[in-house]
Amino acid sequence: MRRTLIAGNWKMNLNLQQSEALAKAVAESADTDSVDVALCPPSVYLAAVVNAVAGSKVAVGGQNMYHAAEGAYTGELSPGMLKDVGCSMVILGHSERRQLFGESNQDVCLKTHAALAAGLTPIVCVGETLQQREGGETSAVIREQFEGSLKGLTAEQVGGIVIAYEPVWAIGTGKVATPDQAEAVHADLRKLLETSYNAEIAASVRIQYGGSVKPDNAAELLAQPNIDGALVGGASLKADSFLGIISPR
Ligand code: PEP
Repeated sequence: MRRTLIAGNWKMNLNLQQSEALAKAVAESADTDSVDVALCPPSVYLAAVVNAVAGSKVAVGGQNMYHAAEGAYTGELSPGMLKDVGCSMVILGHSERRQLFGESNQDVCLKTHAALAAGLTPIVCVGETLQQREGGETSAVIREQFEGSLKGLTAEQVGGIVIAYEPVWAIGTGKVATPDQAEAVHADLRKLLETSYNAEIAASVRIQYGGSVKPDNAAELLAQPNIDGALVGGASLKADSFLGIISPR
């Protein structure tokens, strides 16, 4: 049985005080008995958010990291640093990292190996652009990102990751994929897990949907058989809307 995982990606938003207040509000009210919940604040606020959720079951994750353990990599964070500050997860290969900062599947793959080696759960993001969807390339793009980002991992290691399907055209645009559109890609990803690894891994790995998830569309998306949670951007910045996704009506 796969447990639903709702993760908030705050991106480059909020200040310290707002981050602490939001983390406390989520920790106080999120139904973490039924659902796994994670918050991914800007890296400078990670320690404060870890502190704000202390004593709750809310997990904290990074939004990115570099693959090396230490060294002359100005501006970067290592997997060990995320662990050290209290993170248990890290988002990798978000489409904004891929598009704005030129991250390749190979970069994501190096990071995925390094995150697992450090004991972090990587949330590995894949997703097609509107042009790719309209050109009928969705399956090929998803397969290429899946294979490239997970290259060299054992089945056991893949059992320790989370995949996030985030169609680029639905991120921050208000255009949500229909439950059928999302479910079709999630089912393809589940099949890829089975053919590339095995049936047990395919049945256990969680696949989140991300892209304009809101309280009013969450229930229908989360009801799909292969959608195991949500990676939420904009709607994770307010306690009411994030809590409304964690416990949709
Ligand atoms: C995201 O950034 O991962 C995301 C899904 O953003 P939004 O929910 O704002 O579309």
